[in-house]
Amino acid sequence: MGYDFGNLVNNTTSDSGQVLNDLPHNYGCLDQIILRTNDQIQADSEIKIRVSTSDPSIEPIEMTFTNLLVVNIVPETIAPGDTAQIIPKLKNPDGSLSDFPIEQTFEIGMLDGCALGMIKTATDSGVYVDAALQPFYFIADTGAVEGTVKLRVGVIEGMSSSSLLNNNFKSRKSENQIKKSSASDNRREAKSFIDGGVIGEYCFLGDLYSVVTGDANVVVGNVCATLPKCTENNAGKKPNIEIMDFPDGTDGKNKCNNVSGITYMLWSENEKKLFLPIEIENCCDENANVIQFGIKNDLMTLRAIVTACEDVIVDQGYTILYNTTELKTKVPQNLRALLQLYSDLDIFLDYFTNENPSSPFYPIELAWEHEFQHKRNYVNEIFNVVNKDFDYLDYSKLDVTCNKYSELNDVVNEMKSNFEKRFSYFEKESIKFQFKVWGKKDGTPKEIENYRKNEINTHNAIAKKVIDKYKTEIKKLILSLPK
Ligand SMILES: [Zn+2]
Repeated sequence: MGYDFGNLVNNTTSDSGQVLNDLPHNYGCLDQIILRTNDQIQADSEIKIRVSTSDPSIEPIEMTFTNLLVVNIVPETIAPGDTAQIIPKLKNPDGSLSDFPIEQTFEIGMLDGCALGMIKTATDSGVYVDAALQPFYFIADTGAVEGTVKLRVGVIEGMSSSSLLNNNFKSRKSENQIKKSSASDNRREAKSFIDGGVIGEYCFLGDLYSVVTGDANVVVGNVCATLPKCTENNAGKKPNIEIMDFPDGTDGKNKCNNVSGITYMLWSENEKKLFLPIEIENCCDENANVIQFGIKNDLMTLRAIVTACEDVIVDQGYTILYNTTELKTKVPQNLRALLQLYSDLDIFLDYFTNENPSSPFYPIELAWEHEFQHKRNYVNEIFNVVNKDFDYLDYSKLDVTCNKYSELNDVVNEMKSNFEKRFSYFEKESIKFQFKVWGKKDGTPKEIENYRKNEINTHNAIAKKVIDKYKTEIKKLILSLPK
């Protein structure tokens, strides 16, 4: 059990594998086998080992090893010149992780990726360090190419570490002492190798002498390597745009003057950012060697005052009906009043009517639905068209080459500032297009004409539906009047 987490190693012959056969033993005592865990091992991993002999008088035994050492690298990916901390953690019997005591010493070696950097402690540095106290680090070379460094950390046994070892290890302690002396040859070898300053295929000769070891990887690469890989090309990709409703008076703007409702885009002014901040999402496009720009959910939210102007309607002498139920509670329940309202509602079909209804009731839905229709139209007729016709918000225009910065923060900052520039062009173009398509209440004769046309179209899209709903309810009320 636990095949994925490590190998058995014969310390005498250096053989390793999941199964070791034909081992010499001393009446059932093995003293040259160590269990070497790898970087797949997790805090809750368990490894079971079965030992049997050809001697029928010796019973086979099974031993369970729980992982004692977990090595974390923070962060797991670093750019050339950057530093990652190597953090060994001790696994407790209950499965939780805790820090080693500060006086605990470790040995750390680089197994692979030797040219990518070195291990650094307060007093020592190199591809192998011994008697290291925490904290220790891996520092990527400033000129490092991309690659993966394999690190192995060993817990050096001593007065403090004896308490760290479970019974399995404790019973083998005397054997370890023997092993240690032979392993110290390796250690000397490793040292002299490093001192020679030659870095070979393996980072250091020999092996760690510690019994309890753990492996971990650190990836060295440019900023791109720290990002998820892109799954698509972002050329031509643009965000969708939605409008979020805000009440009148937002940002000190009062727009309910002499109108039954208003839809007013809160475009950015000066340094005020009146569209909701975007969240940039990056990925690494390995083929193009760029960091792709992206927006979370591909959605931008523009703020707008979208509201019915109840005070204005009340000032004009109307009683507001908030829903059809209020036809029963607010309108006098007699044939004359109900019939009057029934026919007066038709007046509201015409947005620019000069006629005044004699019935003082106004279904507020007429105003709300009118504004909601404006909002929908704005997205369809203004934003979508401008976004389609111009490439201001095209994601790929905001990509940054992988090698430009060593910090992702710098990449994001450049993207943000370029995006804001591009968004302000988008805004300008949208506002221009708005006046062209929707016109302007106080503009040129052509703009006024467009304004009226747009209002009539907007109103016609919703008025009949709302009025029919109210009329149906009034009919019901008339029919239920006492005869
Ligand atoms: Zn309108």
